[in-house]
Formats: sequence, structure tokens, C-alpha cells
Amino acid sequence: MCGIVGYIGQKNALPILMEGLRRLEYRGYDSAGVALVCDKNLIVVKSAGKIKRLEEEIKDIDDMECTHGIAHTRWATHGEPNQNNAHPHTDSAEEIALIHNGIIENYRAIKEFLIQQGFKIKTDTDTEILVHLIRYNYKGDLTEAVRLALGQVEGTYGIAVVSSQNPDVIVAARMGSPLVVGHGDGENFVASDVSAILEHTKKVVYLEDGEIATVSAESYKITTIENDKITPQIEEVTWNLDQIEKAGYEHFMLKEIEEQPATLRNAFRGRLNYDDGIPRLDGLNLQAEELRNIKRT
Ligand code: GLU
Repeated sequence: MCGIVGYIGQKNALPILMEGLRRLEYRGYDSAGVALVCDKNLIVVKSAGKIKRLEEEIKDIDDMECTHGIAHTRWATHGEPNQNNAHPHTDSAEEIALIHNGIIENYRAIKEFLIQQGFKIKTDTDTEILVHLIRYNYKGDLTEAVRLALGQVEGTYGIAVVSSQNPDVIVAARMGSPLVVGHGDGENFVASDVSAILEHTKKVVYLEDGEIATVSAESYKITTIENDKITPQIEEVTWNLDQIEKAGYEHFMLKEIEEQPATLRNAFRGRLNYDDGIPRLDGLNLQAEELRNIKRT
């Protein structure tokens, strides 16, 4: 699971998003991308590899009117870590863009349904089906489309969604993958990790599983997937960046040792077929024979 950062306010969004991505770099990633909403236009740029490469790609963007956007670092679970599979993913009209941390476990069934409905699937990821499912449910209200789509999804997610047709909101949701809303002055943020937004605000609301946040520049509202209203609990972050990166542990090594059970669980999620007990390791493109011949050196 990798990194999410989103910004909506009066400032130019791109430098804020890129700085946020750099803050998330320590988590490791294989590709990165950004979606900007610029006066009713959606601009999406993504690249495989380091954030430096994404920086090269965005150099020529005219981002003067882009005060709102989302950015992602990906740690591929389904589909190669190439530019096409990098997030954000978009619907075929290129109006809705989505970034996702986690794994959609029932993506195969949803993919088949979407193909039957005439949707064209462009990538090998589990994530892409979500953006089409949101489009399928979209009738003008982005939050409602996200809510209805998530009702059909099994798995883990932290997501952030923007649309050129709803240029004043970011919709974010969480299930088993951390997500926080940062509250600023005339500007708001979303992030998978407070370190990405800490230099802008210390006031945050941690989303709980099953919650959806609709974030605009001036305010935000939180509901559940069942559409119940939630009263946000604003917390003040007192940790500094170094403490956050170590998640309260004294050393990175200790943190990584303690995180091993969760990391393994996440790696297997969506890949164990409970009918025949056979794991399907998508993304590992080796034949059984090749695996058998691997020598430990
Ligand atoms: N499962 C998604 C993918 O492979 C998201 C991976 C992530 O959490 O970065 O694209």
C-alpha cells in the first residue's frame, strides 16, 4: 500500500502535491502520478519509476488554474509497475480520476460486469474497475457515485477521487487503508499519511473504515457508506515528521519487524482462492519450472 495526497484550495495545487509525494517517498514505491482539475479540465500525468521522472513529465504543464488535485505513489500489487498501470486511473470520458491504496478483492467479477456493460478496461490493475464503477453510478453527484460503487466492492482501500464535472470537491474513502483529512485555512487536504501534509496543517481528522469524506476548499463533510452522517473529530498532530515516519517506534528496523504480519496479510489479500486453496500471485510472471530452478546464492 503506498501513498495518497490531495489538495483543494486557492493555491497552485501541483507544487503542494509534488512536495507531499516527496514526503511519502520513504515508504517505497514503483511509479507515481498526479491528476489536476484546472477550471473544468482534468489533466493526468503519470510515470514509472522515481518521482524525479514525474517531475520531468510535469515540467511543461500549464497549471496556473489548477487549485485542486490528487497524487499517488504506487506499490504494484496487480499489474506491472509501468506507466499505464500507474495511478490515477480515469474513466473513458477522462472526466473522473481516482487513486487507490489497497487491493480490490472482487475485481475480476466487477471487471466482467463492466465489460458486459460496454466499458473498456485499459490497465491490468484491480484499481481501474473502481473508476468505471463510479462512472456507472454517476448521475451528477460524485460522493453519491463513490458511495454506491463502494457498496459493491470487497477488499481494502484508501481512495481519493476528483472529477472535472464537480470541480469543487475531492471525495475520499477508507476501508482498511489509512486516510486522513487535513483542515487548513481556506484549503483542505487528504493524505494516506500525515507526514505528506504536516507542513501545511496540524489539524486532522482520521477517517474510520467505511467512511467517505467530501472535501471542498472551505469545508468537509463525512458520511458512512450507508449514508449516515458522522461528526468529525478534529485532532491536533503533536508528533514531528521523524516520529511519524517511525510510527512511534524507536528504530525503523523495529517498526518493520512489528509490521511483518500485516505486510504478509496484505500481500496475500485477494490472492487466495478459497475454493481450491491455490494462491494466484498476479504480477509474478514466472512459470513453475522457472521457480523450481531458482537457486539461492
Ligand atoms: N492494488 C493497486 C495496484 O496494484 C494499488 C497498489 C497500491 O496500494 O499502491 O495498482
